[in-house]
Amino acid sequence: MKLYSPSEINEIRTIFGFRNSKSLGQNFLTDKNIIDRIIEGSGVGPEDLVIEIGPGIGVITREAAAVAKKVVAVEIDEDLLPVLQYTLGDLNNVEVVNQDILKTDLKALIAAQDFTGKVRVIGNLPYYITTPIIMKLLEEGIDCETITVMMQKEVADRLKAAPGKKECGAISLMVQYFAEVNEIVKVPRTVFIPQPKVDSTVLRLDVLKEKPVAVEDEEYFFKVIKAGFAQRRKTVANSLSVLGDATRAEILEALEKAGIDPVRRGETLTLEEYAKLSEALMHKG
Ligand code: SAM
Repeated sequence: MKLYSPSEINEIRTIFGFRNSKSLGQNFLTDKNIIDRIIEGSGVGPEDLVIEIGPGIGVITREAAAVAKKVVAVEIDEDLLPVLQYTLGDLNNVEVVNQDILKTDLKALIAAQDFTGKVRVIGNLPYYITTPIIMKLLEEGIDCETITVMMQKEVADRLKAAPGKKECGAISLMVQYFAEVNEIVKVPRTVFIPQPKVDSTVLRLDVLKEKPVAVEDEEYFFKVIKAGFAQRRKTVANSLSVLGDATRAEILEALEKAGIDPVRRGETLTLEEYAKLSEALMHKG
C-alpha cells in the first residue's frame, strides 16, 4: 500500500467520501523520502514505542510500524477512523486513539503499553497547534527520548534560533530549556495534498536528561522569559515591568545581582541569564 502516492490518496478519499479539513490542518504527505527521514531521524528501534500525532490516512504510521515495537497514533478526526482501519487494519502493532492530543493523558497512555525500549514521538503536526503540542510534550515531563516532528518552516526557524538572532523568541528559550533542537530536513510545500501556503521543516528535539540551568520555579522562569520578549524594542529593565510583581528599583537590583546590564534588550539574554534573573526576582527584597 503506497499511501504516499497521490493516486492512492485520491482513491481513498473517493472510497470513503473523505474531504480534507482545513481547520484540522489536514495536508497529507506524498513523499516517501521525507517519511523515511522522519523515521530514521527519530532514531526509533525495534523495542521502542512510537507515539504519532495526527496519523491522517496512516502514511507515516505504516512505515513506523515496520521498525517499532508498537505505534500508538492519536487522531482527532472521527472521519479518519474507517480510513485508518482500511489502511492499517492488517498491522498488529498499531493502535489508533481517537482523541485530541492536547487533551490526551500521555503518561497514562504510555504506562498502559508493553515495551522495553524508549518512547519516541513523531508526526506531521497540524500547523494550527504546533507550539501548544510541543510545549505540552515537554512540560508534562513524559519519559520521552526524541520528538521528531514536521512544522511550518518559520516555526522551526524560531525554535532553533539562538539568543540574539532575530528569529529567537520566548518559545525558543522555553524549548531549548527542555531539549536540544536538531534540524532533520527541509520540506517544500509541493509534497502535500492539498498544497499548503508555507514550506515545512522536520526538527528532532532530543529531550535533555538534565536541564541546562537550575531553576526553582519553572512557571515563574517562563513568565520572566515571556516578559523579557514582550516588548522587543525596549530595554530588559523596561520590559520586565509587565511582570507586575516588582518595582523599578527591585528590577534594577535583580538585574545587577544577575550581572545583566539593564540597557540590554530582553531578546539578547541567554537561558543562563534568565535563570539567574528569575532567581534574583523571586528572592527580591
Ligand atoms: N500524518 C499525516 C500525513 O503526514 O499525511 C497527516 C498529517 S496532517 C498535517 C495533521 C493531522 O493531525 C491530521 O490527520 C489531523 O486530523 C490531525 N489533527 C489535527 N488536530 C489534532 C489534534 N488536536 N489531536 C490529534 N490529531 C489532530
